[in-house]
Amino acid sequence: MKILNKIRRALSKIIPLGDKLLFPEHCIVCGEKIEGDTWKYVCLRCRTSIPIPESSEQTINKLAELHGFDNLNFINVYCLFSSTEKFPFNKLIYALKYKGVKDIGQKFGEMLGETVKQNSDVKYDYVVPVAIHSAKKRERGYNQSVYIAKAVAEVLGSCLELELARRKEYTTSQTKLSARDRIFNVKDIFEIVQQEKVKNKTILIIDDVLTTGSTVNSLAGAFLEAGARRIDVATLMRA
Ligand SMILES: [Zn+2]
Repeated sequence: MKILNKIRRALSKIIPLGDKLLFPEHCIVCGEKIEGDTWKYVCLRCRTSIPIPESSEQTINKLAELHGFDNLNFINVYCLFSSTEKFPFNKLIYALKYKGVKDIGQKFGEMLGETVKQNSDVKYDYVVPVAIHSAKKRERGYNQSVYIAKAVAEVLGSCLELELARRKEYTTSQTKLSARDRIFNVKDIFEIVQQEKVKNKTILIIDDVLTTGSTVNSLAGAFLEAGARRIDVATLMRA
């Protein structure tokens, strides 16, 4: 697969059309061939059948059950779609996470930005993607949330900030941990690098997938401690 991608990239540089002819794009969600569309990875039918996610209030209530209301460090959670009822969208998140598909991050980032714009009357000073540890970034080569955050910031006319916070420890993968252990695993893992810049600001944190919300809550807490005024969260999917 890696070799195939290499050939594909080399080929697209020489003959842009040849790439398309030899490797037609298929929808990541349903597998249908995509033709005559500006989107490369998700067909129009799948895009328009994205289920409407739960409201911010519902999400907050669920997260509060886990963390306790008083321990939540953000006010609203904006979500683009829910995957529970529409399983195939997991494939999309998988592609975004592990296949380096920048395009998906940007397109869905734009959609997420519009969702926030329609539902929030807060003017965000900063849009901040959840930082991954540098070791993990080396392993994967990129942070997928950055692409989403970049597009969201553009739609909202806010500042994209990548250097405000730093991740201190390399947490082990969260997937095998229980909800309780997840909270413990990521407690106090962020350090605010530019404290002065954060004071009295409104910040929108971007995470690709929100599960227990422990990681974003940890980051939001660090921002509040540094003097930020308000934190909201936006995510592609609430899993
Ligand atoms: Zn499709």
